[in-house]
Amino acid sequence: MFPVNYNDFDLDDINIPPRSKLYNIEPIGLGTPNVESLTSYISRLAECHNLNIATLVCKTFTPYINTQSRKRDFIKGSIGPKTKYINGNSPISLEYVSALEALTTRNDLIYLTMNSWSGLFSNSVIGESRKWCPNCLEEAKNKENEIYEPLIWYIKDIKLCDKHQVNLEDSCPKCGRNLGFLHNNFFAGYCQYCLSWLGYESQNVTINNRKYQEFLLNSFKPLIANAIHLNNIPTNLRIGLILKKAIKDNNFKSISEFANFFGLEKVIMRKWINNKGKPSIDSLYKIFNKTNQSIYEMFGTSLIEQLDVNIEKPIIMKRRRLTRDEIENELMKEIKKNYYKSLHKLCDEKGFNIQTAKRNFPDLCEEINNAKLKQKRESNEREREKIKGFLLAALEMEHPQSLQQFSIEFGIPVLKIKKYFPELSRKLIERYGSYVTKMQKLKSENIKSEIREIVSDLHNVGVYPSDKAIRKKLSHPYCLVVPEYREVWKEQLVSLGYNKFKDVLTK
Ligand SMILES: [Zn+2]
Ligand SMILES: [Zn+2]
Repeated sequence: MFPVNYNDFDLDDINIPPRSKLYNIEPIGLGTPNVESLTSYISRLAECHNLNIATLVCKTFTPYINTQSRKRDFIKGSIGPKTKYINGNSPISLEYVSALEALTTRNDLIYLTMNSWSGLFSNSVIGESRKWCPNCLEEAKNKENEIYEPLIWYIKDIKLCDKHQVNLEDSCPKCGRNLGFLHNNFFAGYCQYCLSWLGYESQNVTINNRKYQEFLLNSFKPLIANAIHLNNIPTNLRIGLILKKAIKDNNFKSISEFANFFGLEKVIMRKWINNKGKPSIDSLYKIFNKTNQSIYEMFGTSLIEQLDVNIEKPIIMKRRRLTRDEIENELMKEIKKNYYKSLHKLCDEKGFNIQTAKRNFPDLCEEINNAKLKQKRESNEREREKIKGFLLAALEMEHPQSLQQFSIEFGIPVLKIKKYFPELSRKLIERYGSYVTKMQKLKSENIKSEIREIVSDLHNVGVYPSDKAIRKKLSHPYCLVVPEYREVWKEQLVSLGYNKFKDVLTK
């Protein structure tokens, strides 16, 4: 035998991209003010996997969770109580982000939360329950866009959709409940309790303090959109540094004078300057009233980065840059392949920057994006048609099926069927309902005639048809405990001349 020369293997050349455990679906609206929230992303991900949310979260996240109480909840199959922190800036949110990033092999899911700005806000930056613009939802549905819930809707105190100039809603129009952020039956755009669609054409505009709403929107929209472009994440030192600089630049003589100018407490101002606490949104609004600067303009931009000496630098992944020609080559190759990857995925796998690709080859990128979109739409459409076909066939079946049985037989989640085909689902449910009623009636008639027959038979052979005696012969021995059947027994006795129950029956 010849010895194998291992030197011939260049192990560095074997480059297998990591496979993701969950589908690497793209977040909607990355880098825009309307980027989707992490919980909305989770709901779409669960839908892609045909799983309900608790199954997805509890079964797949557990290995990546460090907090013991959460781990225990997940092992028990429960999402746990603190879902309002998932989209915000908190350790819970970070655990969800890192679990999801590991499972999808993405590295941009943090921008679906407020974690990039935890240096500026306390963890109550997100409100208590979901809010939504019914018009945005309805519009997305009519245009057949993917339904999602953007992070901006969830920011505490934001009550206005600036696109439609209507109030955000926070209770289900049908069942009236407030809706938590993550729930087993959560689908973006739907109530998790009564499964009603939350979109409609609202005319509701009852905003009390429009100036405050505009301040919030002008502050949070750029914060959310620009999180992805931050070179470094602001720490909680930033506010103190900026305030100190403002005192100096504007020739305030003391912290007290500075605080007075904004109508704020000196003690509190001192705390912020010494990095002992973060301003509430209300306090930031007071500052805005004097400076006319949004939170983003005051604290979000990196103009004072030279002062911000203690800001942690994120670890930058080192990767060989592809040349312009190589990028073009990769894009062309992808186009010839009948387009099956998204641009983001392609960039991730091949190791080039999506912005560079878009800048240099806008047409190629657009072609890939459009083709991918078209492919996705077509596959959704095919899936819907398939489900519709199954449903129509089920409606013709001799023995009607329940929606549950249908769902199990075809492996399609009940909620998905209801969402795609509310009318056909209703028909299926009704058809099964009336079938069940009919069968129950038939069964009940059979039991009644059996009772009558047995009573007569016993009577004919000279045995008193006591309940004990007929129970021995009944196919459902305990049916006499049901008042309806007991009455039949008594009636039959009376009709045969036994008078024991005569009075009872004539009453
Ligand atoms: Zn809207
Ligand atoms: Zn509801």
